[in-house]
Parts: sequence; structure tokens; C-alpha cells
Amino acid sequence: MTAPILLILDLDETLIHATAAKIREDFDFQVYHYYIYKRPGLTDFLIRCGAHFTLAVWSSASDDYVRAVVGQIFPATLTPAFVWGRSRCTRFRLPELDEQGFASLDYATSYEFAKRLKKVTRRGFDLKRTLIVDDTPEKVTQNYGNAIYIKPYLGMGEDRELAYLADYLLTLKDEANVRTIEKRHWR
Ligand SMILES: [Mg+2]
Repeated sequence: MTAPILLILDLDETLIHATAAKIREDFDFQVYHYYIYKRPGLTDFLIRCGAHFTLAVWSSASDDYVRAVVGQIFPATLTPAFVWGRSRCTRFRLPELDEQGFASLDYATSYEFAKRLKKVTRRGFDLKRTLIVDDTPEKVTQNYGNAIYIKPYLGMGEDRELAYLADYLLTLKDEANVRTIEKRHWR
């Protein structure tokens, strides 16, 4: 039997919403000064996907924040293959900001952090059997064959996105090469 597909999950606005300004009293937990709201269906999503995929987390947030959040949201029965933060991302300038002359104004908004899957292949994973889920296409722009985009979760309202996504992902679990499958219109 072949190894399960590697499913790399983003954190912020994909699995959770974190905010320094409380938006509802019923936050799930706190990390540093952030109030964390789990996306509806999060635990079910992780359990359903964890049964058929090798799970991993890759966020462009700081490494210690990422580890703290993952420690709170993953069920004890699931261990991610890796938990990566910003130190594993590749920083690049946003060309449209450069063109507008903004790049030198504000360091934080002049750069984007990309998740380059080459770092995953160095760990021995096969890109034909790797999926990466993110709410920000810019962060996975070089990985279009592996990427699945999810609507951002901002901590409020009805949200069934993770349940829909789990249904879709399970249709891919036995694919020999996920890169050849059109995934843009998965919803
Ligand atoms: Mg995100």
C-alpha cells in the first residue's frame, strides 16, 4: 500500500481566526495576546482527514505561535508530520507595491511569505502526492498544481467550508498524481 497523501494545512483564516481585539466572548483559547476562534467543524475536519492523509501544518506566522496553536487544536490522537512557521517560508517583495513606491514605507506590508514546496520534497515527500490548503493564493503561487484555496474565515457567521473541504479531499485520497487534477472549482 502506498503512503497516504501529504495534506499541508495553513492556520490563520484557514483553520482558525486569531485577533488581538475580541470579536465574540466565546473565543476558544488564547495564545499570547490573541483570542483564537476555531473555524466551525475544525475537529471533525482534522479527524476525518487524519484518517486518510498524512497531516502537516505550514503557516507564515511566527514559529512559536504556530506550535502553540497546533498544540491546542490537534486532537491527541493525531500527530502532524511537521509543524512549520515563518522560518520555513521564503520572503519576497510584492512587485505591485514596489511599482507604487510603497515597498520602502512599511516593512511588514511590503513583503509576502511564500511556502515553497521544494522544502517539502527535500523531506522525501512526493509532490504528486502532496496537497496544500491556503486562503491566500499569493503564499502558494508557485505550487498551483498542489494548491487548494479555501475561503478565509474571519471568526464570524455560519461557515461550512471545512465540512465541504473534507468531502472534497476524501475524493482525492487515492489519486496517483494530484497535480493533474483541476482543483480551482472544487467547491
Ligand atoms: Mg491564512
